[in-house]
Amino acid sequence: MRDDTNHRSGNNVEAARGDGRSDINAVLHLDTARLWKLMNTPRPVDPHSARAALLMLLVVYAVAGVVRYDPQVGAFLGIRLTFGLYVLAGAVWVHRLDWQRTRFFQMGLTLFLAMTTAYMEAVRGYHLSDLALSALTTFVPLIFLFAAKDVLTMSAALLVGHALILQFAPPSGITASAAALVLGSATAAGAATAFVLATYRAGMMQSREWWRQACERERALRACAALGMTQGDLNWVADELARLMIATLADCRCLVLLAEASAPGWRIAAATGVESELVAALQSAPPPPALLDLAGRLVRQGTAPMQRELDSIQRHSLSRKLPAGFFGRFLVALPIVVDDAVGGAVLLTADEQRSVDPNLLELWRAMASQVGQAIGKTRLLARLQQALNAKNEFVNTMSHELRSPLNVIIGYSEMLEDGGADPQFTAGRIRASALELLLLIENTMSAARLGAGKVRVQTEEVDVGSVFSDIADVVRTLPEAATRAPIEWKADAALPRLRMDRLKLKEIIQNLVVNALKYAPGSPIRVSAFQAAGQLRLEVQDHGPGIPAEAQTRIFEMFERVEHAEGASPAGAGLGLYIVKSLVTLMGGSLDLESQVGVGSTFIIHLPLTIDGSDTSAAKTEAPSEQMAVGY
Ligand code: ADP
Repeated sequence: MRDDTNHRSGNNVEAARGDGRSDINAVLHLDTARLWKLMNTPRPVDPHSARAALLMLLVVYAVAGVVRYDPQVGAFLGIRLTFGLYVLAGAVWVHRLDWQRTRFFQMGLTLFLAMTTAYMEAVRGYHLSDLALSALTTFVPLIFLFAAKDVLTMSAALLVGHALILQFAPPSGITASAAALVLGSATAAGAATAFVLATYRAGMMQSREWWRQACERERALRACAALGMTQGDLNWVADELARLMIATLADCRCLVLLAEASAPGWRIAAATGVESELVAALQSAPPPPALLDLAGRLVRQGTAPMQRELDSIQRHSLSRKLPAGFFGRFLVALPIVVDDAVGGAVLLTADEQRSVDPNLLELWRAMASQVGQAIGKTRLLARLQQALNAKNEFVNTMSHELRSPLNVIIGYSEMLEDGGADPQFTAGRIRASALELLLLIENTMSAARLGAGKVRVQTEEVDVGSVFSDIADVVRTLPEAATRAPIEWKADAALPRLRMDRLKLKEIIQNLVVNALKYAPGSPIRVSAFQAAGQLRLEVQDHGPGIPAEAQTRIFEMFERVEHAEGASPAGAGLGLYIVKSLVTLMGGSLDLESQVGVGSTFIIHLPLTIDGSDTSAAKTEAPSEQMAVGY
């Protein structure tokens, strides 16, 4: 792609400098080709004023015919009547006169009036007073011609016509050369006046168009500002933006790309001039690679707009999935800045390459920025809504999860009070429920601190074997271990002593083992640690119910749980795996799950062999006393 942004914008900046006269210059300055085009541009015909003018001409012509009646030239009556009928027909059917028909009618009028007058004067035998009148009829109709090319055609036709009249019906009152001089200069004066008028009209048209566009742009900016205040569906916002953008530039098309908020990637959010079914399909599919490439360039470029001339290959590859020829030679790409980063792009394209007025570029940037604000606001609201839902979910889950062990504790304490229950058994049940409560509260606190980014890694020398035996001691006392499921602890003897956060490593493994005991009651469990590819690889494997593929990603999110096929699932708040995943990430590692329903699950963790707390970028600082309080 040829990048001429700097070159152009440099010129534009120059043009925009100075005393603010650049706009006026843009209105007044017309290059020859553009001027000629404007002088021949179709313009609407007002039928009422055209009819009034034709009727007035008819009256004046009739009065002149009566005043200048000459019994010897009664033969001219036919010509006069024909001309009168021609004008009358024009006045009657004026509503049917579109731009083309008006032109032809007017050319006929010009020729008819000037030539018949000249002919009649020649037949009569010119004398000086008649000559002036004849010259006037040649001159006047020319200046009413609308299109500049018609002025040229008619001037040539009049010159040839007059030459023929002077040749075949020469005047007797004056010499033919004097008559040719007067009629020739009248035609030339008429042509010159008509051209000046056409130029003036063209200038007026241009300035009217300029004001129309200025109003249109101001309206678009105001509408965009209003859009910036709303928080609607993002596709609707994008669609509105595209619609407003194309109102600011003639014959252009617009495409809006948005960066996904949650995952990396872009999507087409809106496109003008494209069937709504196709837009819906485009919105849900990834954009063509060329568009992604363009979006990537915009992100690298920052907030500056990009102006390009596209060659046919680029046009073709960008238009993939879109209607053929959607992208033309002209392309302006404007980044949409959302929350201080490029979060979208507006692509404006047209068939013809054109230079963009710096004011227009500024307007587009302002519009894109307003929409960026709208998108930012919409996303913020979505996040707030999500947080609110999470909070509600948390309150619901916690109240439910707290109630069951508390009810057990209350029930068994009442039984103890009544003295009817076996004290040893009852105390065991009370202890198990209290431990369940404690775990729930600890998990909740851990999740809250992790979510707030308030946890940091503290490294020390770690022997994985001793970590395993610590966990085994703890797990043995837990109610989940009541099934006496065999647990195989296997730490590779070749493992070096590691530097990492011992407490976090313990919490990770313990959570996974407790889950295995909970969800695969009685099935053998295998916990192993060894070195693989320069990393510590930990595996916790069970032969329980397994986890369905659809849930294998979401169970690592807060409060996410799975109902297992067997029916009643053990109690839980859906925090364990979220904590495990967060801790592994904090320690710079990765967590994978291999699971098959009915076969079992293996949680696989890779951790760097040395984790230095001070190097862990995800770690956040906080007062040491607070960290100690929860063991982080
Ligand atoms: P909790 O156990 O408190 O519900 P977790 O975050 O630890 O929350 O687990 C989330 C979900 O993942 C559980 O509801 C459970 O369905 C599933 N799960 C976790 N570990 C296993 C496992 N070893 N086997 C089968 N399902 C599991």
